[in-house]
Amino acid sequence: MPDQTTPDIIYTKVDEAPELASASLLPIIRSFAAAAGVSVGTRDISLAGRIIAAFPDHLREDQRIPDDLAVLGELVKTPQANVVKLPNISASVPQLVAAIRELQGQGYDLPDYPEKPGTDAEKDARARYDAIKGSAVNPVLREGNSDRRAASAVKSFAQKNPHRMGKWTPESKTRVASMTGGDFFANEVSATLPRAAKADIVLKAADGTETVLKSGVAYPEGTVVDATFMSARALSEFLAAEIAATKEEGTLFSLHMKATMMKVSDPIIFGHAVRMWLKPVFDEFGDEMAALGVDPASGMGDLLARVKDRPEILAAIEKVRAERPPMYMVDSDRGITNLHVPSDVIIDASMPALIRGGGKGWGPDGKEHDANCVIPDSSYAPVYDEAIRFFKENGALDPATAGTVQNIGLMAQKAEEYGSHPTTFEVPKAGTVEMRLDDGSVLHSHDVEAGDIWRSASARRAPIEDWVQLAIDRQAATGYRSIFWLDANRAHDAELIAMVKPILEAKGVADRFEIMAPRAATRASLETITKGENTIAITGNVLRDYLTDLFPILELATSAKMLSIVKLMQGGGLFETGAGGSAPKHVQALVETNHLRWDSLGEFCALGESFRFLADTTGNEKARVLGDAVDVATQGYLDNDNSPRRKPGEPDNRDSHYWFARYWAHALAEQTRDADLAAHFAPVAQALTEGEAEIIAELRADRGQKVDLGGYYRTDPEKTAKVMRPSARLNAIIG
Ligand code: NAP
Ligand code: MG
Repeated sequence: MPDQTTPDIIYTKVDEAPELASASLLPIIRSFAAAAGVSVGTRDISLAGRIIAAFPDHLREDQRIPDDLAVLGELVKTPQANVVKLPNISASVPQLVAAIRELQGQGYDLPDYPEKPGTDAEKDARARYDAIKGSAVNPVLREGNSDRRAASAVKSFAQKNPHRMGKWTPESKTRVASMTGGDFFANEVSATLPRAAKADIVLKAADGTETVLKSGVAYPEGTVVDATFMSARALSEFLAAEIAATKEEGTLFSLHMKATMMKVSDPIIFGHAVRMWLKPVFDEFGDEMAALGVDPASGMGDLLARVKDRPEILAAIEKVRAERPPMYMVDSDRGITNLHVPSDVIIDASMPALIRGGGKGWGPDGKEHDANCVIPDSSYAPVYDEAIRFFKENGALDPATAGTVQNIGLMAQKAEEYGSHPTTFEVPKAGTVEMRLDDGSVLHSHDVEAGDIWRSASARRAPIEDWVQLAIDRQAATGYRSIFWLDANRAHDAELIAMVKPILEAKGVADRFEIMAPRAATRASLETITKGENTIAITGNVLRDYLTDLFPILELATSAKMLSIVKLMQGGGLFETGAGGSAPKHVQALVETNHLRWDSLGEFCALGESFRFLADTTGNEKARVLGDAVDVATQGYLDNDNSPRRKPGEPDNRDSHYWFARYWAHALAEQTRDADLAAHFAPVAQALTEGEAEIIAELRADRGQKVDLGGYYRTDPEKTAKVMRPSARLNAIIG
């Protein structure tokens, strides 16, 4: 019989590097938590787990697993929720296809991903897979707004041990290129609904026919509803001009999108870039390539694989390549370009890394060069553009003296989930897209052409009010300069400003906040932290994502070390571990050299908060003692520089967990608030200290060799445990 009671804390089962780390860390957490009567359960939100859960009717009884994401989606709406959420894969189509193939190879009788669904069965499979694709997890779990910052121990460690920064010079040719019209920013309209309403999204074609793109989208009173579109024609002209400009300027052509989270719009935009890059090839061989199943949105890698037996097409591609400017590379050794796979270059990771490196990207020659950073939509591109301008003028940020930018982000109840929405469409034919309300009125209307990308996003009133309150609380707690990153000249932001201002005034705190457009706010924030002072960026959902990578990567070298708290609106707590992703490169390194350089600092930070939150909600004071001891251990971990190293043979993730466990046990043994816990952990601490030499030797025994995990998307638990828990002595102490 499965255990029906909900564990005190849910620790999510995910993918790639963080999941491998969990194989080592979770047994330690469970063992320590048990001493305080705290149970730690898991729920599977991995890509493979979500695929398996979606096809029970195709699988044997013993292969089926429940839909854990749905269970968690309900749990986060309750005051009991206490979830430690690790980063999971937001799958692009190539990743989804690879995961399906792996599972099929493991004996799961899953349908293939139907590229062109024809039969009802294919349509059904496609619909189930599409629900798994892209950003499918976070919007379900984020029933609250986001509070992300570097814990003070982490920030002061970074100041004392500043990472290396690339040099910025005023001569740098690196720049950001964005559309100056016809984009989502330019075409946005927005309105706040005075009453609850249902909307149909309808395309009225020029030929008089009507197509319902989506019907019955329900909004409560006070929802801010936006609509906008990107003109395919304007996009193509822009891309052609920027390819030419890049060649003239002698820089690398780079494209920065978020094809994972923005799973509908951004692969289409990416596809336009592939199409424009290879325009002469598409002009000549477009029909033949279409017959071979080429979809530019799947990237150049997929395209090349499909035309591999067509020498005349390959020759045409080679000819174009010789004429184009050099491209920004994902992996120059293996010839993987920016346009190879839509999910390889993700803007919130790629742009900060480029800025941290002094505006340089890798070229096909394996050397660093200045780059033209193409970010077609101009809604948020000014953030990166202004940062680049600022560093060209002032030189790189100094992490030893820089203050910090914290973030309060609007995201609850799918607020502003741009582009990942079921309300984004590639317009099939020219006409007018209307959003019609159930009272017969037309809320928004746009004249569009075939191929334009139309989308609607929304944000509900309750999450917006909660977000403003969170900002007021954090400002009061810190006294930091606090800026709402809202652009009065942008339709959506103007609606938000109209909600934010009255709340601040009613609470008598309007004078403690500034409201600035993203470009001005970027400059103001960089000026503030350059002076060594701190600031809070209060932003919408997309900037929450972008800024909580950008500033940490500049300040701390990585966003993985962030404290990331989601105060759920129904009273529960969701503790995200860092702001980084699942670090696929790290898995490759582990498999090749048995070295895992994933740093679990984000997990440690989340864990301390989760235990304390448990104490607050259940009155289990032992949990508070555990949580406070986690913080002491984290401090020790930082002071002694126990983070994993980059090179094989040096201490890695497993060593770092040993040190964390040791410091944690000592902190528990030495605290004076709970004698039972102190007595329990005194021998544990002693055993960990005495066993040091043997444990470290056992942990390192097989380093440098290839390892077998029995899978990539769904690893074999026994094989993984063997790799990730190689110390018999440590395992015996942990029990
Ligand atoms: P990423 O996984 O954050 O990796 C970028 C780089 O950041 C890594 O190669 C690594 O740098 C560094 N890094 C990130 N976390 C680290 C950690 N804990 N310890 C040490 N280094 C760390 O970003 P990505 O490649 O853009 O995304 C990978 C996958 O994660 C995608 O499938 C994406 O959808 C997903 N993702 C999920 C979430 C979430 O669930 N909240 C958030 C973001 C991304 P070095 O290689 O230099 O060591
Ligand atoms: Mg991000």
